[in-house]
Amino acid sequence: MEWDGSTPAAAIVQCSSVADVPHALHFARQNGIELSVRGAGHNIAGNAVCDDGLMIDLSNLRNVRIDPAKQRAHVEPGARLADFDAAAQQHGMATPLGINSTTGVAGLTLGGGFGWLTRKYGMTIDNLISADVVTAAGETVRASEEENSDLFWGLRGGGGNFGIVTNFEFQLHKVGPEVLAGLIVYPLEQAHQVLRRYRDFVESAPEELSVWVVIRQAPPLPFLSEDVHGKGVVVLPVFYAGEISEGEKLISPLRGFGDAYGEHIGRQPYVQWQQAFDPLLTPGARNYWKSHNFIDLSDDALDIAIEYAHRLPTPQYEIFIGLVSGAPNRVSSEAMAYAHRDVKFIMNVHGRWESAADDQRCKSWAREFFTVTQPYASAGAYVNFMTEDESNRVAAAYGPNYYRLLHLKRKYDPENIFRLNHNIAP
Ligand SMILES: Cc1cc2nc3c(=O)[nH]c(=O)nc-3n(C[C@H](O)[C@H](O)[C@H](O)COP(=O)(O)OP(=O)(O)OC[C@H]3O[C@@H](n4cnc5c(N)ncnc54)[C@H](O)[C@@H]3O)c2cc1C
Repeated sequence: MEWDGSTPAAAIVQCSSVADVPHALHFARQNGIELSVRGAGHNIAGNAVCDDGLMIDLSNLRNVRIDPAKQRAHVEPGARLADFDAAAQQHGMATPLGINSTTGVAGLTLGGGFGWLTRKYGMTIDNLISADVVTAAGETVRASEEENSDLFWGLRGGGGNFGIVTNFEFQLHKVGPEVLAGLIVYPLEQAHQVLRRYRDFVESAPEELSVWVVIRQAPPLPFLSEDVHGKGVVVLPVFYAGEISEGEKLISPLRGFGDAYGEHIGRQPYVQWQQAFDPLLTPGARNYWKSHNFIDLSDDALDIAIEYAHRLPTPQYEIFIGLVSGAPNRVSSEAMAYAHRDVKFIMNVHGRWESAADDQRCKSWAREFFTVTQPYASAGAYVNFMTEDESNRVAAAYGPNYYRLLHLKRKYDPENIFRLNHNIAP
């Protein structure tokens, strides 16, 4: 195929099999066209989209094959978390993925990946066994600890910088099919007490138990009385990956953190919990995020978050704290591209609004919150939460592993063909 240059290079190749990927790459290279790679198209930076170039769209490649005997999953690059969870749960298995089921497995994995199972079983990359990759040179190679191990090192956190992954192989664990999970909702007025008790509680909570924090205006959840809807709340999402009766005992102190507006916790299918946050994250809104890593949450950091939570700029805006202490902390920071193995909490501001007229106001709010919480944050950043305007943060995001990544980029993609990402410029 050749492009005659007479029309603007603005096209989408919708791959219908992984065999299409090298052809699409070859076409872009031969014609000097900018290219982007789309998994499920979920990333906040929007780098899967390419205005005047060629988007290699993998989103139709959603097959997930489970090998129950070996406890392995083989996942195509357009699969969403829901596809993976549904297939693996047919065998009572899962691997750590994120908390919104429309997210792509590809982008999530290449940046790191964490969710409800992370405290117990590590990050998504800690469960990656191998990947098939189409390199910038157009070759298809396997990357694992045994084959092309330098590339495998880079793929686990280095994003889309090193090639196009056409298949992921993951380790699975026995999970569910039912888990104990749900929400406890406290008034924002009790946030100082609730968040301090939360921090102290999770310090010694077993790794099967994950409790996160979402601070926002109460959505119209059916278990909350109508007069609570729209009020400021501190939500504690709770997930227990072990024996349900044991989990019931372990979570009971969470109910004493204050006078809750309500709770909805119980036994439910793992796949259902994996979709519990989807209704808050429907497509179409305008989004802008900022994110910091934390080794601990000081009283001062919590107080600032609470102060800002009292004046969130829109009803959909939220401050979120994810808990990642446990298995991820036992991996060496040099083991793979993702370096920040000391991190225990990730605090995000999830900016979300409807109208372009609010863009400036809403983005400024997020940036201000990011600046005032910065002194309490630890080093680095999670690339999957970085926006398109944070290219100056990439080296810091990779911290001590950045120079090794640079070296790897020069080996696998010296011409920077894969540059629409959080780019490691060779
Ligand atoms: C609402 C929401 C909730 C989220 N929750 C979590 C969470 O709980 N945990 C978590 O860890 N993260 C979470 N994330 C972040 C998520 O991991 C990233 O947005 C991720 O990049 C999405 O992957 P995708 O394939 O859908 O993205 P895409 O936008 O399709 O891709 C993102 C980038 O990845 C690269 N890429 C994608 N596919 C390939 C491929 N096959 N080969 C090479 N490069 C590729 C490209 O550079 C592309 O620009 C969340 C994001 C959102 C918006």
